[in-house]
Amino acid sequence: MKAVPRFLSALFERPSKAPVEARTTDQSAVLDTPSPANAQPANAQPANAQPANAQPDTAPPRRRRRGRGRGNGRSGPPTNGRPHSGPGQDERAVLAPPQPGSGAVSTEIGPQPRDRRFGQLMVSAPVSRALSDLGYVTPTPIQDLAVPRMLSGIDMVGQAQTGTGKTAAFGIPIAEAVDGRTNDVQAIVLVPTRELAQQVANEIAQIAKHRGINVTAIYGGQPIKRQLDALERGVHVVVGTPGRVIDHLDRRTLDLARVRIAVLDEADQMLDIGFFPDIRRILQHTPRSRQTVLFTATAPTQIRRLIYSYLNEPEWIQVGQVEEPVDEVQQLFCEVAERDKQAAMMEVLRTKEYDQALIFRRTQIGVDKLVSFLVRRGFAIDGIHGSMPQGKRDSVMRAFRQGTLKLLVATNLASRGLDIPAVSTVISYDMPDNVEEYLHRIGRTARMGRPGTAVTFVGEWDFDAFEAIKRQVGEESLEKLELSIYDKYLA
Ligand code: AMP
Repeated sequence: MKAVPRFLSALFERPSKAPVEARTTDQSAVLDTPSPANAQPANAQPANAQPANAQPDTAPPRRRRRGRGRGNGRSGPPTNGRPHSGPGQDERAVLAPPQPGSGAVSTEIGPQPRDRRFGQLMVSAPVSRALSDLGYVTPTPIQDLAVPRMLSGIDMVGQAQTGTGKTAAFGIPIAEAVDGRTNDVQAIVLVPTRELAQQVANEIAQIAKHRGINVTAIYGGQPIKRQLDALERGVHVVVGTPGRVIDHLDRRTLDLARVRIAVLDEADQMLDIGFFPDIRRILQHTPRSRQTVLFTATAPTQIRRLIYSYLNEPEWIQVGQVEEPVDEVQQLFCEVAERDKQAAMMEVLRTKEYDQALIFRRTQIGVDKLVSFLVRRGFAIDGIHGSMPQGKRDSVMRAFRQGTLKLLVATNLASRGLDIPAVSTVISYDMPDNVEEYLHRIGRTARMGRPGTAVTFVGEWDFDAFEAIKRQVGEESLEKLELSIYDKYLA
């Protein structure tokens, strides 16, 4: 990541306190746990009238929203924010009837005492049960840092490597804080892509499944009718892409006046896509008193501007070296002329062992061309990019997640956030545009501590870009892969 020039960072420095930073580089708590099967969102509640007395945040961005102090906040969870429901709450657990079709799942709606242990963290019984259903025994470092802070109600910026359990880091506090007894949308999570919306909604739904909380993903490409029906039945947590969320706000089918938590996930990618104005509009529909949490891999100027406009004295937490590739990835490169790349691709696929491989191309046409070339040569392969119909995108992603599809060619759409633990190999058929993109791509493999391989094709036009990658990751981390297609020249 390029350093922000001093004069620019000074512009965004907070007038009083410096951001409190909590960091850990300890990745040891990152567990090798298989990803859960897709969750069924909790069943819908009957729709109630929306209370109309909330104050939407229609004022221009501001530096200070409310006078929440923080104490020194340097060690341990903060105690003086506005805590979400927690221990000592005297409301009794309501045992709802089992959800239809879900066997003997009991649902405790309403605030619950957080009297169960998840590592060092205290969580409520229903969330604790959901976490053990998922096989989560110990919190990961980002969860250790983020969960207590979010539960205390403060605003937060999280910088974390993907694959570290980031989703549950905000999913657990959301599951604890949201109250299933009303029909208001109480939490909104904005994500850059449709696939991520589905993945994040599924994970939150799993964590909240014993809490009577309805989670819905809303994103473009899916028939709006289905989303309208879900919203009408009553939704507590919305996970959406900014464009479709705006659509619903314009149609007045989504009311954010009761939102208590807003999460901006993969914020830097959302800004890259140009979602800044949409994010601003969405936040302006939420109450000023909301808690705002932002997760980002990098913190360029635009992200800092967003943070200082919409977050109130956020605490920064950081896990690991965000820009460093995960250690478990073996990074290979091969020099291959543009016209030989298809042959090189076949050689890599035939000679390298992989569970599942994700191949990156720069353009949508490039994805389609490579897929049809490899299909003609007998490979079971499919592609995904932004111009494909949503139904096709969904079925391809489902097949890849389930492991029935082993090979997927994608544009950068798939480079962020997607968590498919069986991806053992990432191939950059086209050179990534910059170092960050390279790191995001290779971050799709070696998830949760598994080993993985990244192969990068370096074409005749790619030497400058590759030099930049070399400088960042260190020449010693890169291994040259010789291709037999060039053997004849060596003989
Ligand atoms: P994420 O960084 O949110 O994409 O999560 C990466 C993977 O870690 C996902 O497969 C999660 O299901 C898994 N995961 C998250 N938290 C834990 C945990 N505490 N223990 C084990 N696995 C986890």
